[in-house]
Amino acid sequence: MSFIDFHQVSKRFGDNVVLDDLSFGVANGERVTLIGPSGSGKTTILRMLMTLTKPDSGTIAIDDEYLWHERRGDELVPAGEAHTRKVRSRVTMVFQQFNLFPNMKVLRNITEAPVHVLGTPKDEAEARARDLLEMVGLQSKADFYPSQLSGGQQQRVAIARALAVEPDILLLDEVTSALDPEIAAEVLDVLRDVAKTSDVTMLLVTHAMRFARDVSNRVLMFNEGKIIEDAPPEQMFNEPQHERTRGFLRSVL
Ligand code: ADP
Repeated sequence: MSFIDFHQVSKRFGDNVVLDDLSFGVANGERVTLIGPSGSGKTTILRMLMTLTKPDSGTIAIDDEYLWHERRGDELVPAGEAHTRKVRSRVTMVFQQFNLFPNMKVLRNITEAPVHVLGTPKDEAEARARDLLEMVGLQSKADFYPSQLSGGQQQRVAIARALAVEPDILLLDEVTSALDPEIAAEVLDVLRDVAKTSDVTMLLVTHAMRFARDVSNRVLMFNEGKIIEDAPPEQMFNEPQHERTRGFLRSVL
């Protein structure tokens, strides 16, 4: 099995088939961009890894542990909540709308999960939070509330917060689409640094194709709940094989 393993995953909402018997794997340390038209199931993939959306059928595993199933002998049985929570704890996600805790200062936003979920001593969590704030260029904002920061600054805090739990898998869902282009560029710079300096496995959904080209080493093209093309960025962007991919890229580039 791959580090992240989707096997025959299907999901529908009413009559709308969002993922259709989808299988794919992602290796440890890979940085994968999901592209494709709106509604093609990209965000659903990320939400499944966060256990925010459950597949109707199929299995999803992270590092040989199933998210929704447990092994009993040779059989797979539905997983208990504690098992699912444990497997999912290796994954964090940054959302389009930042989603910081509005009533907590920046430093506390970053230390909250390490201290209260992982049990990291407060001093240690705060020292690491300050290092992360420095990495995202916001060391002077530790004692501000989110509402006192610009959108781009809030998103950089959200990235620091996601990295504070030392995840194995970082999910980025349209993290710059709520931001003006100039501000978005600051956030993309931070993510380029993350990609360069850490070996975290990244799955990102973005319409910023330059960024996708810079940070990812693999691009998956989604269409109607299936992956229709899977290639390194140079190939996907310079010589797409599928007519649907060519049409999509013409519409966004
Ligand atoms: P993408 O990220 O590629 O734009 P999504 O994964 O967000 O696509 O959505 C795929 C489809 O699933 C869309 O048609 C969307 O409207 C639908 N969908 C997603 N979540 C829900 C939900 N909770 N209830 C009903 N439909 C949903």
